[in-house]
Amino acid sequence: MLCRPAQYLLRCDDLCPTVSSARWQSLAGLIREFGLRPILAVVPENRDAELEQSPADPGFWAGMREMETAGAAIALHGYRHLCASQERSLIGLTRASEFAGVDEATQRLWIREGLRILRAHGLHPRLWVAPRHGFDRNTLRALRAEGIELVSDGLAREPFVREGMTWIPQQLWGPVEKTKGLWTIAIHPNTARDEDLAALREFICAHAAQFTSVDRVLVEFPRRPMSVGERMYAGLALGRIQARSWRKRMGLSL
Ligand SMILES: [Zn+2]
Repeated sequence: MLCRPAQYLLRCDDLCPTVSSARWQSLAGLIREFGLRPILAVVPENRDAELEQSPADPGFWAGMREMETAGAAIALHGYRHLCASQERSLIGLTRASEFAGVDEATQRLWIREGLRILRAHGLHPRLWVAPRHGFDRNTLRALRAEGIELVSDGLAREPFVREGMTWIPQQLWGPVEKTKGLWTIAIHPNTARDEDLAALREFICAHAAQFTSVDRVLVEFPRRPMSVGERMYAGLALGRIQARSWRKRMGLSL
């Protein structure tokens, strides 16, 4: 049985010292104002020019530490966010990936180094958030070997266990009202427009009591494999997303 009413988790992606300063400040303001406990997906050593939106903020890492102390969960968001591989991911949402298809030894090295960098900044990374949802079984093996057993990804409506990892699904890229289930809303501060942040604020105002945290999710949801129903739901959701992006590529209206 899916939880009712719906619960929401906020996830902020692509965080690094050069994240768009103005937009991250307004998102961070929302988090503080409503006492949210989001997932912060941090790039350990960004080399992706698309994530260089503002001059490097010397206070970035202290800000991350402060938010972690306030209850945010830190996620390892890849290593350098360079998505040079075109191999198929376990998720099947996109083709460009930093990790999927890369040999296991290299992936393990990147994950170990990424974790080392985040820890050297005083953070305690607990989850994996793959750049562009791109990862494979080797990534999960390397993560487990490095002590990370939580993934934020997948399209089911409740957490599940797969490949020896606990998955907290992430299905939304903006606020959408739901009646049941656990929904992670991933926001990209580099590309969020003013109206996106305004819509998020309105949604949080209306549903503040339904926002949860990684800690609560781990306590409140059982760890079990994905049910047949959720497997079907996730398959259909993937089909809908793929069809939408195909129509977009073809220039057809949505
Ligand atoms: Zn990313």
